[in-house]
Amino acid sequence: MKINQNYANVKKSYLFIEIAHRLREYVAAHPEADIIKMGIGDVTLPLAPAVVEAMHRAADEMGRIETFRGYVDDNGYDFLINAIKNYYAGFGVDLDYWEIFISDGAKSDLGNILDLFDADNTVLVTDPVYPVYVDTNVMAGRRVIFADATEENNFLPLPDPSVKADIIYLCSPNNPTGAAYTRAQLKQWVDYAKAQNAVILFDSAYEAFITDPDVPHSAYEVEGACDCVIEFCSLSKTAGFTGTRCGYTVVPKTLKAEGDLNGMWLRRQTTKFNGVAYVIQRAAEAVFTPEGQRQIKENIAYYQENAKLLMSGLDRCGIKYFGGKNSPYIWLKCPDGLGSWEFFDRLLSEANVVGTPGEGFGKNGRGYFRLTSFSTHEKTAEASERIYKMLRG
Ligand SMILES: *Cc1c(COP(=O)(O)O)cnc(C)c1O
Repeated sequence: MKINQNYANVKKSYLFIEIAHRLREYVAAHPEADIIKMGIGDVTLPLAPAVVEAMHRAADEMGRIETFRGYVDDNGYDFLINAIKNYYAGFGVDLDYWEIFISDGAKSDLGNILDLFDADNTVLVTDPVYPVYVDTNVMAGRRVIFADATEENNFLPLPDPSVKADIIYLCSPNNPTGAAYTRAQLKQWVDYAKAQNAVILFDSAYEAFITDPDVPHSAYEVEGACDCVIEFCSLSKTAGFTGTRCGYTVVPKTLKAEGDLNGMWLRRQTTKFNGVAYVIQRAAEAVFTPEGQRQIKENIAYYQENAKLLMSGLDRCGIKYFGGKNSPYIWLKCPDGLGSWEFFDRLLSEANVVGTPGEGFGKNGRGYFRLTSFSTHEKTAEASERIYKMLRG
C-alpha cells in the first residue's frame, strides 16, 4: 500500500491555531479583559423565518408515506434548480436546466471539480488567497503559480499574457481582501482564458454582498464566459447556510474543452455524490421566494451596516483599507509599518480586539489585516472606537 505523498506537501493551516494560541495566552494573563472578536469568518445571524418554515414543512412531508422521498434525482430537485435558473435570469443570464448542479456547498465542489482535470495542468491562483484552492491542488500534485494581488493593483490582479495557465481560480468579491472585479476587468480574464484554452473556476460565494452596479453577480454576465467559466456559489454567506449546507455549481454545456465537461461532471456527481437532503433543498428554495429574498437581504444589510461602521472608523484613523463595499471583509493596511502579527498583538493587548493577520492568506498579505462584519452592531461600534483610541486617542 502506497499513500498519496502529495499530502506531505500541504502546508499546515496554522493561522487560526496561532490566533487561538495567542488569544489564550493573553486571556490567561488578563482574565478580566473584555475581548471583541472581529476576525469571525462565519455568519452569526440565524436562518430567515421563511427558510425555517420550509424546513418544518419538508420534515413533515418526510414523515408521511404519501410524501416521503428517497434518493434525490440527478443533479437536484427541479423546484430548486428552476428557482436558481430564475435567479440567474435576474442578472440577465440564461442558463440551461442541466447546467445547474445542487451541492452541499461551494467548498466541496471547488475541490471535487478537480476530478475532471489531469494532474499535469498549471493552476493559477491570486495571492492572498482562500487556502482551499491551493491545498486541493497540492493534494493532487498539481503545479500552482500565483498572481500577485497588491495595493498597486487594488488587490485585483489582471492576466499577464506571458504567463501560461490551464486552471485559473478567481474569487470575486474576494475573501480575504474584499476586492471585486468589474465586468470590464473580468472580461480581460475571460479573454485570457480563451486565448490559453484554460478554464476559470469562479467562486461567487459573496455575490449577495455586491452593492456596486459595475460588479457582476455572476461571471456569465461577461460575454464569452460560458465558453470558459465554471461558477461556484453557495447559500452559506448569502443566507446563513454555513451549518445547513447547500450550494450550486454551474457547468455550461458550451465549455470549450477536449471533452464534454458538463457530462463529465454529471457522471462524477452521480457516481460519487448522492445529492443534498430534500429538507435542505426545500429550505434553499425558500431563499429564492420574494419573502425569503426580503428576509435574507435584511440580514445582509445588517452586516453591511457593520462594514460601514468599520470603514468610517478606519477613515477617522486615516488607515488605508480595501473591500467593505461589496463584501463582509475589510482588508486594512497595518499602520506605522507594522507587520500583520505585530498589529495583531498590539490590537489584542491595547484594544482587546481580535482580527486576522493578512499574511495567513499568502505572502502579499504581509502588513495587512482582515476585519469582518459578522459581529453585532454594538460590538462592531465598540471595536471601532477602541481602534480609534488606540491609534489616535
Ligand atoms: C465561505 C466561502 C465559501 C463557501 O463555502 P461553503 O462550502 O459553501 O460553506 C466559498 N468560497 C469562499 C472564498 C468562502 O469564503
